[in-house]
Amino acid sequence: MHEFSTMQGIVSAIREEGRKHNAKAITKVWLEIGELTFLGEEQLRFAFDVLTEGTEMEGAELIIQKVEPKIRCECGYEGKVNYGEKEEFHIQFPILRCPVCGNNVEIVSGKECLIKNIEIEV
Ligand SMILES: [Zn+2]
Repeated sequence: MHEFSTMQGIVSAIREEGRKHNAKAITKVWLEIGELTFLGEEQLRFAFDVLTEGTEMEGAELIIQKVEPKIRCECGYEGKVNYGEKEEFHIQFPILRCPVCGNNVEIVSGKECLIKNIEIEV
């Protein structure tokens, strides 16, 4: 489970940070997750609950901010990614090509998986 191992890293980084500040409890966590990480929010929340149970982070509020993908092309285009749909699977997938000229593009954002902020009790 991709979400579980990702959240494991996040939770241990946060607890480490809490220890540095002698936190009695960690009460709120803000994460920034890019849509191109394909991490499911529900699975992330589930992993968060499981991993924080019985720790100083138990019951902390988890705020997930999604980051829209953004691409940049040599032709000067910079902006949103178009999505295509595979009808047989009913899934949407990002098209990582320039909507103007069709070239391959550079991904500017959408792959982040960051701890933006935490709130602690000391
Ligand atoms: Zn282009």
